[in-house]
Amino acid sequence: MEELLKVNHVTMKFGGLKAINELDMSVSKGEIHGLLGPNGSGKTTCFNVISGVYQPTEGNVFLEGKQINGNERYAINELGIARTFQHISLFSTMSVLENVIVGQHCRTKSGLVSAILRTKKERQEEQKMVERAYELLDFVNLTHRAGELACNLPYGEQRLLEIVRGLASAPKLMMLDEASAGMNSTEKKDLIQIIRAISQQGITVLMIEHDMKLAMSLSDEITVLDHGSKIAEGPPADIQKNQQVIEAYLGK
Ligand code: ADP
Repeated sequence: MEELLKVNHVTMKFGGLKAINELDMSVSKGEIHGLLGPNGSGKTTCFNVISGVYQPTEGNVFLEGKQINGNERYAINELGIARTFQHISLFSTMSVLENVIVGQHCRTKSGLVSAILRTKKERQEEQKMVERAYELLDFVNLTHRAGELACNLPYGEQRLLEIVRGLASAPKLMMLDEASAGMNSTEKKDLIQIIRAISQQGITVLMIEHDMKLAMSLSDEITVLDHGSKIAEGPPADIQKNQQVIEAYLGK
């Protein structure tokens, strides 16, 4: 399969600590790729390096063969990578609909200033953004919440809103950092359907997931980290019986 994302020999140091150690990882177009590992193994740091929150100490990150590390976060988003955060980071005093519209911003040519000095074309563009935002909210069954403040949504719905805000930028790669955390079993079932539907739209998914059952059932490929290093990669069936993986989890 064609490669979408390549993490090439990436090391990320914080002072004397190597949070990621010479990591090589490849994510193919169209797959759902799970990034697993015990707490503190470097998963979120890996997400932070890919999405431009941190610059790697060594190594590079490529999207469709083009180096992306060194770019600002917004530029990496424009190039096609969206993400959610382990700790929800919505614009809590904005409405649900506004959160999705803000997420689309990198796709539109007119900025916030022109939103004040609007031309007809820009008003039409704005109308399209609102329509698209409603489509996205419908996708996760949140249309009825459009006018509410994001902070008033129940936790599980806030997580879904974060996902659609990411999708609003029309990414090639959607990175989900523990999307199922804090969800009950019904919410998790809905989440599984949503992740599958994202994938069916041709968007590649890279997800950090603590729920093993969910990760194993959804992922096409899995990379496992321990103490910042990759200890295994492959399809779920192989990962489940990998002795090093079992020991890494039992050892904690
Ligand atoms: P995981 O997501 O697998 O739980 P993290 O990537 O959050 O792991 O953390 C990996 C290691 O890097 C941990 O030891 C953590 O304390 C450390 N770390 C992560 N971010 C920072 C930071 N900004 N400054 C210092 N240490 C950090």
